[in-house]
Amino acid sequence: MTPLFDTHCHLDFDDFAADRVAVLERAEAAGITRIMVPGTHAHSALKIESNTIRVQRSFGLHPYFIEAHQQSHIDWLEAQLDQHPTAPVGEIGLDATCSDYDLQCKLFEAHLALAARYQRCVILHHRKTQPDLLMRIKQVRDQLPDCGGVLHAFSGSYEQAKQWYELGFKLGVGGTITYSRAQKTRAAIGSIALDALVLETDAPDMPVAGQQGQRNEPAQVVTVLQSLLDLREEDEAIIRRQLWQSSCQLFGSAND
Ligand SMILES: [Zn+2]
Repeated sequence: MTPLFDTHCHLDFDDFAADRVAVLERAEAAGITRIMVPGTHAHSALKIESNTIRVQRSFGLHPYFIEAHQQSHIDWLEAQLDQHPTAPVGEIGLDATCSDYDLQCKLFEAHLALAARYQRCVILHHRKTQPDLLMRIKQVRDQLPDCGGVLHAFSGSYEQAKQWYELGFKLGVGGTITYSRAQKTRAAIGSIALDALVLETDAPDMPVAGQQGQRNEPAQVVTVLQSLLDLREEDEAIIRRQLWQSSCQLFGSAND
């Protein structure tokens, strides 16, 4: 069976400091062979080793930590992109629940300029900012590489999903779809083109239904997949194959 790719997992966070090896073992047992660890801060480049799972990372300054970022961190970011020729730019974006929205916008523009210059796909964070984010991405879409990027933790309507898909972006499908109350998002994910979707956990955040308040972990990508299978018409083999291909389109083929 085609393996699974957790396209968004903060495995470098301290939440996993005590048992990261065990977490990776459980992920491996669940059939996960690749994990993308999105960058959130400057100088946070924890090396995570695994013999069986390929752990990749991207570089970015997350809007949630806007107060920690400094102008010089953009230089650091540029140096990382120089040193890591395939690393994506992320996790970046706009968060209306965080402070300094103007500064977030400036920082986001700086990231997009780097993504265009280095021809890297982007990993986008949004919270109550999807229309603004979409408008800004539309403005620069022709400067970004074909792979575009991924709107991580998608939630929203079919119309919103379709707008991202038409820009050539993927939608990160996570724990949200495991909640029956998330009707709009579940309907969107169930009916959008299959090649729009990639799986993610956003661990340690976004626990799946029934595990609220607990730490999430990459092995739970299987629970997200189970909900996806319930929402889709295609059979499991086809869904797994397409998810894998779409993830590789974003983050490189298995042999890179
Ligand atoms: Zn994240």
